[in-house]
Amino acid sequence: SDYFFVGGNWKCNGTKDSISKLVSDLNSAKLEADVDVVVSPPFVYIDQVKNSLTDRIEISAQNSWVGKGGAFTGEISVEQLKDIGCKWVILGHSERRHVIGEDDQFIGKKAAYALTQNLKVIACIGEKLDERETGKTFDVCFQQMKAFAGRLLLLIDVSSLVDYIVTNMVVNWDDVVIAYEPVWAIGTGKVATPQQAQEVHVAVRDWIKKNVSAEVASKTRIIYGGSVNGSNCAELAKEEDIDGFLVGGASLKGPEFATIVNAVT
Ligand code: 13P
Repeated sequence: SDYFFVGGNWKCNGTKDSISKLVSDLNSAKLEADVDVVVSPPFVYIDQVKNSLTDRIEISAQNSWVGKGGAFTGEISVEQLKDIGCKWVILGHSERRHVIGEDDQFIGKKAAYALTQNLKVIACIGEKLDERETGKTFDVCFQQMKAFAGRLLLLIDVSSLVDYIVTNMVVNWDDVVIAYEPVWAIGTGKVATPQQAQEVHVAVRDWIKKNVSAEVASKTRIIYGGSVNGSNCAELAKEEDIDGFLVGGASLKGPEFATIVNAVT
């Protein structure tokens, strides 16, 4: 898609009351037409949001189980998320990688499973501060991309041929948005400069071109996340390869989130 994409990741924040206020602010906000807008409430509030939020905005979950539901205490399945009206799921967020401990392989499997069930995926990648400082930014991002793409469109490995066939039959890269979120920029107020973000977005697009296809590389949205707010979004949005944002803290304020949605225009 050519549309700018802006997601609001509410993380583990909110109450019935605060979310009701946020939804009403979003319902009355003026959002430019040519932008895909998604919000991601905590699981327990998805139903409330689905029942009160304008259809103009789609709903994402913040995580999903790696396979079909069943005896997996505390987990939420892709099928259940679809059942309550989720269109998207965020996978590989740095907080799940580095706070909760999910690894590349597990995240890749989750993405493949979600896509086979037609749940679209916001696939997150990004380096930690020490990795940037030691010149490993591209390596880390490419490794994380490989774990997603390797499951989605296998980098031909015979042992995974079944996954390859299964996923290729159903995976539509239009259903995948890549979110570059440098860990050092998340929740720190230290936003990447437009040049820093653009440089990584170009590298990731080039990686997709080499490892998937030129067509997928040109059409896949690569969005930036990490301390995006109403004041820095316009400058970032000017960069050629920044196709949108994944917003944390600032997405909890309706009017500011609307400013970010409209940043590209
Ligand atoms: P902040 O916008 O709060 O830095 O969070 C970014 C993020 O993690 C979005 O997924």
